[in-house]
Amino acid sequence: MAMNISITRTTNPKPRPADESKLGFAKQFSDHMFLMDYTAGVGWHDARIVPYAPFEMDPATVVLHYAQEIFEGLKAYRTAEDKILLFRPDCNANRMNDSADRLCIPRIDPDFFVEAVRTLVDVDKDWVPHLDGTSLYIRPFIFANDVGLGVHASKHYVFCIITAPSGAYYAEGINPVRIYVEDDYIRAAPGLTGFTKCGGNYAASIKAGELAEEQGFAQVLWLDGIEKKYVEEVGSMNIMFKIDGKIYTAATVGTVLPGVTRRSIIELCKDWGYEVIEGKLAIADIMAAAREGKLEEVFGTGTAAVVSPVKELRWKDETAYISGGKIGPLTQKLYDTLTGIQWGKLPDTKGWTVEV
Ligand SMILES: *Cc1c(COP(=O)(O)O)cnc(C)c1O
Repeated sequence: MAMNISITRTTNPKPRPADESKLGFAKQFSDHMFLMDYTAGVGWHDARIVPYAPFEMDPATVVLHYAQEIFEGLKAYRTAEDKILLFRPDCNANRMNDSADRLCIPRIDPDFFVEAVRTLVDVDKDWVPHLDGTSLYIRPFIFANDVGLGVHASKHYVFCIITAPSGAYYAEGINPVRIYVEDDYIRAAPGLTGFTKCGGNYAASIKAGELAEEQGFAQVLWLDGIEKKYVEEVGSMNIMFKIDGKIYTAATVGTVLPGVTRRSIIELCKDWGYEVIEGKLAIADIMAAAREGKLEEVFGTGTAAVVSPVKELRWKDETAYISGGKIGPLTQKLYDTLTGIQWGKLPDTKGWTVEV
């Protein structure tokens, strides 16, 4: 799919954020967006970068009713030498196609996906913030654009990419979080859409997240949807447990989102000589390990935070306290290594970064 991307620059650029220490997460958006349309029988067409602007939508547009929509999330990082790097964007391209297949959405050539991201970030490169720990968050998404209320795969789609300068996730230092193990609601079940990044997964998860937050927990830890026995993932992160020197995480077999951060961390841990076990891990066994003093570290993994240390796990009436409330040494080393590669402070021996 060799396609030209036409570029129409804004004649009315927005003021860029003056104080990069107050960016927060994706609250304001850069000057341009990428758009491309799909028409059944024609394919993807009219790839273009245009000034960021609202969509006009018919109230009967399919996505508004039946949630036929998928998305991705990645970042662009500014290095000390003023280069701009992306982290494994090919992984996002391939994962978007896996999501697309499940949601009956047409695929996008992975090389073209990366080209579209690069071109957009290049056009808006002044929007990649400079302050330590900040980045440009990139949100590609595809939605069904047919008009009509029949339930079918749409014949029209829009692929859009928007970008948002975002603040350092840990502006006040890495803060270990409390996690609520959700024993009532579920996020995924075999045959459903757990392995995809689709808006519907999030819509179904908001309620549990709100209830946990009311009780002072940062996120929920989801258990498997059948037995509610095995740990799967956390909100918008995968999760890993270091027990007695070994690292455990759920296998990505349909109900768990295959995170790019997860995959990168598994590679690093194996390089460092750790045994990494991807499989079923019962929450009861984790709590037992905590009681025996063998639950050494617990951390979430995802693009936003890289790693998010967990200091407390609440399951039913039981609470496990981890690492004395501090970030564990492996969690810290993973954070330093991955962020070092992403911001170009460490050599990228794995070829994970792509220069814009
Ligand atoms: C995006 C996401 C993750 C993390 O994936 P990364 O590629 O590491 O950012 C984990 N779980 C869910 C549900 C997600 O949507």
